[in-house]
Amino acid sequence: MEQLLNYIDGRLQKPLSDQWLDNYEPATGKVYSHIPDSDSADVEQATQAAQAAFASWSNAPLEERMLLLLKIADGIETRMDEFVAAESRDNGKTLKLARAMDIPRAISNFRFYASALQHFASESHQMPGVGINYTLRQPIGVVGCISPWNLPIYLFTWKIAPALATGNCVVAKPSEITPYTSYLLSQVCIEAGLPKGVLNIVHGLGGKVGQAIVEHPEIKAISFTGGTETGKRIAATAAPMFKKLSLELGGKNPTIVFADCDFEETVKQVVNSAFSNQGEICLCGSRIFIESSLYEKFKKAFVEKVKALKVGDPNNADTNLGAIVSLAHKQKILSYIKLAKEEGGTILTGGNEVKGSGRCADGYFIEPTVIEGLDYLCRTNQEEIFGPVVTLTPFDTEEEVLTMANSVKYGLASSVWTNDLKRAHRVAEKIEAGIVWINCWLLRDLRTPFGGVKASGVGREGGWEAMRFFTEAKNVCIKY
Ligand code: NAD
Repeated sequence: MEQLLNYIDGRLQKPLSDQWLDNYEPATGKVYSHIPDSDSADVEQATQAAQAAFASWSNAPLEERMLLLLKIADGIETRMDEFVAAESRDNGKTLKLARAMDIPRAISNFRFYASALQHFASESHQMPGVGINYTLRQPIGVVGCISPWNLPIYLFTWKIAPALATGNCVVAKPSEITPYTSYLLSQVCIEAGLPKGVLNIVHGLGGKVGQAIVEHPEIKAISFTGGTETGKRIAATAAPMFKKLSLELGGKNPTIVFADCDFEETVKQVVNSAFSNQGEICLCGSRIFIESSLYEKFKKAFVEKVKALKVGDPNNADTNLGAIVSLAHKQKILSYIKLAKEEGGTILTGGNEVKGSGRCADGYFIEPTVIEGLDYLCRTNQEEIFGPVVTLTPFDTEEEVLTMANSVKYGLASSVWTNDLKRAHRVAEKIEAGIVWINCWLLRDLRTPFGGVKASGVGREGGWEAMRFFTEAKNVCIKY
């Protein structure tokens, strides 16, 4: 069976312990490769390689860094089919989604930061007649990037690209559940001629490899995306070490539909925002609030569209929802559907696991599920499920829907559907979330800040925010 390898000091290598983990394909429920079960010794080696590479990489001409990042982007593009297949096989997402979203976005991440590094500027502040200050923004050194399984290469490169662009060397860990595209990325980096040690990718478990990265005294900043509980543990370890931290965590995002929305388009987009990637996008809208006067009409049209979604083999062109990422996650989602019933919810459609056929007979599938009749404060409406399960709730006033939308501990994303311009701006200002989409969802401009508030995290990714995160600002003050 194929063995994936760590990428350390420019080479692909086995874990030092020679221990391995099974890598499952969720659509079939079968192991299809083994990944390194690395530990702190591999992280130590990776960190030393990164430290050794830092002086040269941080002083490399900007154009050299830019060209290398562009070459990596080109390398992914050239191997698009392999990346698409690997992303879908690891994660269970449909091939068409991987091709339309994940892989193009990974390419854009490198291209965006290749360009950004040429234009990144810092401030100067004049003290009239007295002197001048200027701000140096210098790379931090060795930084750690840790990412989750839901958008594997998309989120991995969203961290790595700005970290490298700003002149840092990186020790990175992809999710152990979806390692394959980062293994392909390490091959692409070798092909592109990225100097050894600049990027190191160590595979393995969070508690071993991730924890070792967070604890390593020479890794000076941690950029993490994943669950809120893991984020808490990382903060507890890294904060007393005074590391820079960016934490992109869980969500329980509201979708707010007003009666004056463009009806057909809204229903279509709200279905999309609820069930894309089986609801396993941190930005998916899982709590759908609908103005009472539109509620019954919206419910009917929404449920009809959801019923038409096809669940099945991610390789099939007509599949809308592929497999849930793992058996454990499937069980977690099903336990929330059971909870929703216990809490008094009515299942309008879905609610069951789906038996796959053919090669997918043992795969992990769940019907897209729509529930109504739940109190907005119940656990189903407060806790992150991270699957194809949404609730519908009517509301009467703007004030009421804002209370319900903001009632959760999370604050990642939201969407508002209305043709009332003033209301859109008013509501956007009051929603407790890092992103408000108005009459759209997942429309992303990479120059904008990205991140959450409350238990959805601290710090911002994207655009200059990421460039600033991965650099230390130093003020130089000169008296005339
Ligand atoms: P997770 O927290 O279990 O794991 C994320 C990563 O952290 C993995 O690589 C894992 O191995 C590693 N990890 C686990 N324990 C660790 C530790 N003690 N120290 C260091 N690293 C450790 O999350 P997941 O299940 O992979 O992903 C799903 C979660 O990610 C959801 O909560 C989702 O909302 C969130 N998410 C957030 C965003 C965002 O931008 N805010 C984006 C995608 C996913």
